[in-house]
Amino acid sequence: MTTGTAFALTRNDHPRSAAERSEILANPGFGRYFTDHMISLRWNEEKGWHAPEVLPYGPIPMEPSASVLHYAQEIFEGLKAYRQPDGSVATFRPEANAARFQRSAERLAIPPLPEDVFVASLKELVAVDGEWVPAAGGEEALYFRPFIFADEETLGVKPSNSYRFLVIASPAGAYFAGGVKPVSVWLSREYVRAAPGGTGFAKCGGNYAASLVAQAQAAQQGCDQVVWLDAIEHEAIEEMGGMNLFFVLGSGSSARIVTPELSGSLLPGVTRSSLLQLARDAGFETEERRITVDELKEGVASGTITEVFACGTAAVITPVGRVKGSEEDFTIGDGQPGEITMALRETLTGIQRGTVPDTHGWMTTL
Ligand code: PMP
Repeated sequence: MTTGTAFALTRNDHPRSAAERSEILANPGFGRYFTDHMISLRWNEEKGWHAPEVLPYGPIPMEPSASVLHYAQEIFEGLKAYRQPDGSVATFRPEANAARFQRSAERLAIPPLPEDVFVASLKELVAVDGEWVPAAGGEEALYFRPFIFADEETLGVKPSNSYRFLVIASPAGAYFAGGVKPVSVWLSREYVRAAPGGTGFAKCGGNYAASLVAQAQAAQQGCDQVVWLDAIEHEAIEEMGGMNLFFVLGSGSSARIVTPELSGSLLPGVTRSSLLQLARDAGFETEERRITVDELKEGVASGTITEVFACGTAAVITPVGRVKGSEEDFTIGDGQPGEITMALRETLTGIQRGTVPDTHGWMTTL
């Protein structure tokens, strides 16, 4: 497929009415409702990526032998479209998601989708379903879920000879409807998410399937989220269930902002890389390095670690208020959102919503 290839449009004959849509947009939650259309492309050895289409959102016929159902050859992405003050619709660093999608594809032996096709698909979807992008002024957005799965009819354990790429979209409500609230986290020592040489850096469904039991354990322990440690020593902090982690050392203008290095077993978040940049813009020193549970414990006890937060597309930044594990249970600072945490959050949400200047050229109009 070459750049500029037209997407064939089949309109949904039964789109939701304007009234139904506004009712949904008034309280969308997350991942509960889907827009009227979806994007579809296919891949086979002869044609590569081809057949770009805009289709009515709906069931996808699949053989019970489709290899994704057996061996989980699948990858996905997640990013949002934000209504701008002038009424246009823009998304945040889509080329970064497209590049990560390619790296995930390579790890899962899936043929990579060209970056420009990825971005063009988002444009096509907004062209038909733009009315589903929530109004400006709040924290609501339209969430895109691009994904590729293997659909060859075979039980052979091998890369599939055919794939589908789909993009569906779902309106997402404000993550913190009642104001930003710190989360509690459970340090998982019993389960690991990813090991060196594994698939931790890729966004593949299997990573999430394997995380569910640990997330359930975190909930049993009264915590909101699980924190993953390194697979070998269970000492280095890696990331949360669906977000990267940051630590603020010191305070005021001399604070240092630390995040776990990209070890290969954690997901390189687009929010993570953007916040590193924004922290440097604000004059903070940043460090990407190994940080252990002991360093966190001692830093919090001595007062050198003043703030901890998690970050990702869904919530942008979530303060971490309490850390619990089999050997510890402590509060970060006074358990409330930290000053630097909230300042970085304001800046990044402002850029995404078009109220803070986009000095890095991160926004793409759809
Ligand atoms: N880690 C994991 C495991 C995730 O699923 C996500 C969400 N994609 C993130 C980190 C944050 O990544 P991003 O900032 O690109 O949303």
